[in-house]
Amino acid sequence: MLFLFACGSVVRHEASLTNIQDTIVHLGFSSAVAFDAEFLQPVLTSNLVNGIVERVYIEGYPIQMVLPEALADCTRLGGHSGVFLFTVETGATQRILTTIKYIWGHRDIRPWGQPLPIQCPRCAVILVEWKRVAVPHGQGGSQQFICMNGACGELTGEGPVSIHIAKLDNLKILKPGKCEGSAWLEIALGSRIFDSA
Ligand SMILES: [Zn+2]
Repeated sequence: MLFLFACGSVVRHEASLTNIQDTIVHLGFSSAVAFDAEFLQPVLTSNLVNGIVERVYIEGYPIQMVLPEALADCTRLGGHSGVFLFTVETGATQRILTTIKYIWGHRDIRPWGQPLPIQCPRCAVILVEWKRVAVPHGQGGSQQFICMNGACGELTGEGPVSIHIAKLDNLKILKPGKCEGSAWLEIALGSRIFDSA
């Protein structure tokens, strides 16, 4: 197993993500974990690393099974970084590399894992407070937020700006964490097939 404590650009960009996947397979790792924070603070990953090592090396469970469980104890990491899991399944003639991305979501501050804007695009207030408002059923889990600055949109008469955050189709919600209203979310990024060496 490989833990990559590099800054997130290694997995955030398509070309470097492909390079990382090639390297994991060619070096013969069965699994790898990477982080997508722009400036990764490795100290925030310690809970997750301990949780994985304990469950995989001491209890003997496969990493695909233990990672979602280990993430439940890692709310602080979630506010800082997403997590990538690469697993390699080796067959007689080919190796299959599967990539899964985990992001942390909170219903009020990171709907569907997406951080809300720090600055309002209409009134330009920085560190703006966003209020979640009810969305009619049948909108595919979309969430709506409005700017709480009382003067937002006053000059133009448009009123406070409203933003919609859509739920990705392939997003799966893991079991809720200790922080109320939050959960890690799983996004399958597909598989690649390599010839066995
Ligand atoms: Zn505003």
